[in-house]
Amino acid sequence: MKELVILGGGTAGTMVANKLVRRLNRHGWRVTVVDRDNRHVYQPGLLFVPFGDAEPARLVRPRVQQLDRGVRFISGGIERVNTEESTVSLDWGLALPYDQLVIATGTSPRPSEVPGMDGPLWQESVFDFYTLDGATALRDRLATFEEGRLVVHVTDLPIKCPVAPLEFTFLVDAWLRHRGLRDRVELVYVTPLPGAFTKPVASERLGHLLEERGILVEPDFLVEHVDNDARMLVSYDEREVPFDLLVTVPLNMGADFVARSGLGDELNHVPVDRHTFLAKGYDDIFAIGDANDIPTSKAGSVAHFSVDVFVDNFLDHIAGRPMTRSFDGHANCFVESGDGKAMLIDFNYDVEPLPGSFPVPGIGPLRLLEETHTNHLGKKAFEWVYWHVLLPGHPIPLPAHLSMAGKHRVPAGSPPSEKQEA
Ligand SMILES: Cc1cc2nc3c(=O)[nH]c(=O)nc-3n(C[C@H](O)[C@H](O)[C@H](O)COP(=O)(O)OP(=O)(O)OC[C@H]3O[C@@H](n4cnc5c(N)ncnc54)[C@H](O)[C@@H]3O)c2cc1C
Repeated sequence: MKELVILGGGTAGTMVANKLVRRLNRHGWRVTVVDRDNRHVYQPGLLFVPFGDAEPARLVRPRVQQLDRGVRFISGGIERVNTEESTVSLDWGLALPYDQLVIATGTSPRPSEVPGMDGPLWQESVFDFYTLDGATALRDRLATFEEGRLVVHVTDLPIKCPVAPLEFTFLVDAWLRHRGLRDRVELVYVTPLPGAFTKPVASERLGHLLEERGILVEPDFLVEHVDNDARMLVSYDEREVPFDLLVTVPLNMGADFVARSGLGDELNHVPVDRHTFLAKGYDDIFAIGDANDIPTSKAGSVAHFSVDVFVDNFLDHIAGRPMTRSFDGHANCFVESGDGKAMLIDFNYDVEPLPGSFPVPGIGPLRLLEETHTNHLGKKAFEWVYWHVLLPGHPIPLPAHLSMAGKHRVPAGSPPSEKQEA
C-alpha cells in the first residue's frame, strides 16, 4: 500500500482528496488527510459576519463530512515534515509515513508580527475579520459604533482574498449609510500598495469607487507598529494614521511547521513550480492552495483551478510520466461593492482583470469589473456551490484556464464604455 498524505483539510486539501481517492484506491494507494480540528469554515462568509448578514455557526461544517468515505482523516497538529525519512510528525506523537505529500495548510493572519497590533486594544478597538472569532467580535463592536474614524488596513501582501479588505470597506460604507451614520464617520483605507489593487485596470476602477464614496486612501503605508496609547498606526516612514476603530488584515503567514521543516520562504509559504506545484528541490512533495508561493491571488478559486490541473499531473507523476498540464495562475473573485451589488474579476499570471461578460461571451450573465446585482447573487450562491459541488470534487462547467472570450481590453484611464475587443 502506498501512502498519499495531504496536510490540511481546508478548501484545497479536501478537493485534492476527493478528486484523487477513487482513482488512487484502485491502484493500491491510501489517501490520508491531516488537520488540527474537525471544523471546516467557509471563509468567504466571514466577510458578511460583521454586518450580521451571516450567522457564524452556519459557516462551519464537520471536515470529515466533506471528505469521501474512502479518505482516512487524522486529527492532529502537524509538527514537522521529516523529508529525509519521508514522515510527518504530529503533536500527539504519531510519525506518519508518506510516498507522496501534498501540503495544503493554507495561510493565516498573524497579528503578533506587528508590534502593538495584538496589544491592549486587540478586539476592543483593533479587530480582524479573517477568523471566525475576529469577525464575530467585530460584529459586536460595530453594533455600537456610531461615530469617529474607522480605518480599514492591510498590513502587507500577499494576503488571502486580496479584495476582501476592499469589500469590507464598501460594505461598511453602505452599512453606515443605511443606518444614517455615514456623515458621522470618517472612513479611511490604508494600504501598502500605491493604489486600491495590484493590477492597473482593476486598481483604477476600485480606486474610483472609493473616491466616489468619500473614502480616504492612504497608499504606500508600511506599518511599523500600532500605538495603543495614541490609538494610531505608525509607518516605517513615520506617518501616523489615528483611528477610533481599526479593522486590520494582519500579516498572513503559512504554517510554522513549514519553517521548522526547512520547506518555506520568509513567510512560511512553500516555493513551488508555478505550473505544477511541485516543491522546489523535491519530487515527492507538492504544495497547493494558499500554502504555496505562486504569484497569483491566494483564493479558493485559485485552489479549485489548481486542483483541476494538479490531479491529472499527479497521476502521471506517480506513474513515472512527465507532468504535461500547466497551471496559468487563473483566479476569479467576486468583489462585493455594497447596496446588493458586486463586481467580478477574472485574471491569470499574464492577463490582468479586464471588463466584459462571464462566463458566456456577450451574454454573461455576470459582468466583469462592473457593479451588478446579478454578480452579488452569484457571490451569495457560491456558498451552496462550495459545499455541494466544489468540495465533493464534482466537475463544474468552468475551464481551469483563463479564457479571453468576452473580455475587452481597455486603455488605462478610459471610462468603462470605451471598450476594445481583445
Ligand atoms: C474573509 C475572507 C474572505 C474570502 N473570500 C473569498 C472569496 O470570495 N473567493 C475566494 O475564492 N476566496 C476567498 N477567500 C480565500 C479562501 O478562503 C482561501 O484562499 C482558501 O480557503 C484557501 O484554501 P487552502 O486549502 O489553501 O487553505 P485553508 O482552506 O485555509 O485550509 C488550510 C487547512 O490547514 C489546516 N492547518 C494549518 N496548519 C496546520 C497544522 N500545523 N496542523 C494541522 N492542520 C493545519 C487548517 O486547520 C486548515 O483547515 C476568503 C478568505 C477570507 C479569510
